[in-house]
Amino acid sequence: MLQKKGGIMVVLSSPSGAGKTTLVNLLSKKNKFFISISHTTRSPRPNETNGNDYFFVSDKEFKRLINNDEFLEYAKVFNNYYGTSRTPVIQNLENNNNVIFDIDWQGADQIKNKKLDYKLITFFILPPSKKILFERLSNRDMKDKLIAEERMKQFDRDVLHWINYDYVVINDDLEECFLKIQKLIDAEISNGSKDYDKDFIKNHIDKLIS
Ligand code: ADP
Ligand code: 5GP
Repeated sequence: MLQKKGGIMVVLSSPSGAGKTTLVNLLSKKNKFFISISHTTRSPRPNETNGNDYFFVSDKEFKRLINNDEFLEYAKVFNNYYGTSRTPVIQNLENNNNVIFDIDWQGADQIKNKKLDYKLITFFILPPSKKILFERLSNRDMKDKLIAEERMKQFDRDVLHWINYDYVVINDDLEECFLKIQKLIDAEISNGSKDYDKDFIKNHIDKLIS
């Protein structure tokens, strides 16, 4: 196997509303991760600010960035474009900083397929149930129930991508979920034993999509 260099890359993906943004923020506080801030063509939510949550750009600007080959990966998600800038990510990894990504399955696939020389750990986050997911989406996008409904429709398709991830973790109690991910990252870094029950996850997925 190739010797990996520099920092590690940690990817969190999930069906919308399962909690990856919340978890990325928690993990980065405790681990000094550099959070990869994506570009997007979607409009900011009321609590979001430019340069903090995303770089909010026009379709024209996003296309310019694609043409300049500035993205490590990009994808269309829910009718908007989202992309990861290559330069800050590679610079941080080269400086031995770990980088964490909140990106969808298309972006995770693209990064995986690039087979970069840095260690990559991928997590897929699941909600405890569809009912709780809908509640979380509705609370977050309070003004627009249609957004929550539209994202719920996508759930059954999104969830099928769990199979391509190193680990699937259920975000029921936030602190417990955070600790589970933290322990798995630590075990991956130290090559220690991993507390991970794939059969339990498979059962949970069967329940979610039945
Ligand atoms: P995602 O980034 O996966 O779309 P968010 O992190 O934005 O999801 O979480 C969706 C909503 O659910 C947010 O309002 C967040 O505060 C809330 N949330 C996240 N995790 C939990 C949890 N374990 N328990 C209760 N609410 C949560
Ligand atoms: P949201 O609009 O809820 O912030 O994000 C919608 C989806 O886009 C989420 O699944 C999120 O992970 C994904 N996403 C955010 N940034 C990127 C990115 O740079 N690339 C890709 N491929 N997906 C992203």
